[in-house]
Amino acid sequence: MSKKERERKIKYEEFGSLQHLTTEDRKLLECAFDERDHAYAPYSGFRVGACLILENGQKVVGSNQENASFPAGLCAERVALFTAMGSNPGIGVKSIAVAAKNLNDNLESPVFPCGFCAQVLVDLEERQKSPIRIILGVDRGPVIILASSKSILPFAFSSRDL
Ligand SMILES: [Zn+2]
Repeated sequence: MSKKERERKIKYEEFGSLQHLTTEDRKLLECAFDERDHAYAPYSGFRVGACLILENGQKVVGSNQENASFPAGLCAERVALFTAMGSNPGIGVKSIAVAAKNLNDNLESPVFPCGFCAQVLVDLEERQKSPIRIILGVDRGPVIILASSKSILPFAFSSRDL
């Protein structure tokens, strides 16, 4: 039986602060920072804001919404993505910025979307046939930019698997 070792590499950009970003990216990340204030997170104290920009320039926001029945809650990314998909059918998502803040406000590196949100991002990316950029930031730490959502879930389940 033969065995092959394979490897997949992920490319991403890291910036020292949001001052180094393009104006559009910086504004989108600032929007995500602000959106954290709309989170409903009484259980975890973990507040996440998401702000995405559509191909027509329109912005759609989301924040994490927790629930006493924990699995009923939803992440900021999916709140924004499903709102965008539901109210703007056929218009692609260009970029999504995500910013988090924990209870102690001591995050030093950006937080990546969870597996569920990554799956939704990859699925939407395939549907719209263009990459969705991901911009991740925290108050005191670097900014990370990924050119495509596939980078965070390289072995994503897709419609081709059905
Ligand atoms: Zn998530």
